[in-house]
Amino acid sequence: MQQQHDVLTKKLKQAIEARAVVENARKLQVDVLSNFAAKLSLSCKGLDIEMDNRLAKFRNALHKGVDFEHFAPLIDEIVILLKSQESKQITQQRDLHNSVLEAGKQLQKSKGIPDGARRTLRHLLDHELNNVQSTHDFIPLLTKLVNIYHQVLQVKLTLSSSKQADAQPELAKQLLALANDLVLEDEATEQIKSIKNNITCTDNVDDLLSSAIEIITVIASNISKERQSAQSFLVSLNQTLEELHHSILSTSKHSESISLEYSSLNKRIETKIKNLNTQTQAASSIAELKALVDDELKSLSEDLIEKERLERADREALITSFDEINKRIGSLESKLTKYKKRLNEQRFKSLLDGLTKLPNRAAFDERFHHEFHLFDLQESDVTLVVIDVDHFKSINDKYGHSAGDKTLLVIAKALQKSIRSSDFIARYGGEEFVLLMPGLALQNATLPLEKLRKAIKAIPFKFKDTQVQITISLGATQFKKGDTPLAAFDRADDALYNAKNGGRDKLCITP
Ligand code: GH3
Ligand code: MG
Ligand code: MG
Repeated sequence: MQQQHDVLTKKLKQAIEARAVVENARKLQVDVLSNFAAKLSLSCKGLDIEMDNRLAKFRNALHKGVDFEHFAPLIDEIVILLKSQESKQITQQRDLHNSVLEAGKQLQKSKGIPDGARRTLRHLLDHELNNVQSTHDFIPLLTKLVNIYHQVLQVKLTLSSSKQADAQPELAKQLLALANDLVLEDEATEQIKSIKNNITCTDNVDDLLSSAIEIITVIASNISKERQSAQSFLVSLNQTLEELHHSILSTSKHSESISLEYSSLNKRIETKIKNLNTQTQAASSIAELKALVDDELKSLSEDLIEKERLERADREALITSFDEINKRIGSLESKLTKYKKRLNEQRFKSLLDGLTKLPNRAAFDERFHHEFHLFDLQESDVTLVVIDVDHFKSINDKYGHSAGDKTLLVIAKALQKSIRSSDFIARYGGEEFVLLMPGLALQNATLPLEKLRKAIKAIPFKFKDTQVQITISLGATQFKKGDTPLAAFDRADDALYNAKNGGRDKLCITP
């Protein structure tokens, strides 16, 4: 009996212990879940006041350990609120996305966006923002956009408060490029040189502005000189024409008077011969006849000499007058040739970049559209490459603008030297170049373009006794059916963007 009792007591004890273990485990689970639910509810805080209230109640109940039956109505309410919150969020997200896109596009239209920022912005608007899947993806893009806004605003602000000259290098760069592109008379070239010198030496925006005004003044005076020279040409053309007219008039007058003299002379000769005829018939002796003939012949021969003199004078007058006219025309012609040459030079030079002497952007645009037109007709392969020098700003910053200029010149020469004669390279602007490779398919472009990249990397630049390696990034694409010049250029630019983002000193290709 006692034994039975002991066994029961032991079993009971075991059961109680087992139950305690189970209860403990369950309490632990409930704690973990409650904690989790409380944290989760906290993360929803701030979306909606109504929901915040319910969630606070919910957390309170969890904390106090209220029975689960009491939770049910509270949870139902919260679920309903969450659902309405979800649809509200979707709408808000779409609105936000649209307004960010709109703001970006607005910014794109604004002037004074730095090169790199412009490229980043375009990529952001055309690609990145369209691929957004969640708010999570969206935030870093928004940060990027705000960053670009910041940069542009910075440029604008510094422009208006001319003392802090952060935008100064950009302004100086544009002024220098403008000064380089000018084709002027020798005297003006000197002026421009000294203005350029001022631009490079100053770090004050006010000085830059006065340089800008000086450039405008030089251009204006040059235009008036150009006009004067055109006017003086027209005046001398007019003079020559007038003289020509005079000279023709006087020659014909001269011929008129001569022809009058001629006809009277002829008449005289005719009468004399007639007289001679009648008189010889009337003569009665040989001696009389001889004397008659002698007289008449003498007078006739005088007339003939006079006739010859008249003829000679006529010829001479004509020759002098022709000589005069010829001289005039000759001088006019040489003036015209000089004038034409200047005009051609002007046109030719305006298609060349002043610093590197490579074709400039205008020349590129012309050639680009021409190649596009050819492609439309025959669809042969054309590879298009955009090239940008890496971290070029730091060359200017560390070694000065004129070292930067020399570097650009060396790079331009090396690029020109490394391409085929059928290729076309231009300085697109700043430290950016574009290359057109007609007759080359994109899949065959990698080899020569990699060679180009390495050729630049191998140039032994040396500034202030420091060896410096300079690299370029390249973006390539090729013309394709249904393309527009802009679309093709954008593809190449996107490839360049990828090369920059991929660490620079790279060739990237967008088919
Ligand atoms: P990234 O690798 O991203 O291209 O960096 P980066 O510094 O080359 O690019 P960014 O566009 O920020 O700066 C380009 C710099 O090139 C800014 C400008 O001072 C300089 N630059 C542009 N044109 C000229 C020029 O004609 N002469 C000189 N010396 N510098 C120029
Ligand atoms: Mg650039
Ligand atoms: Mg660059």
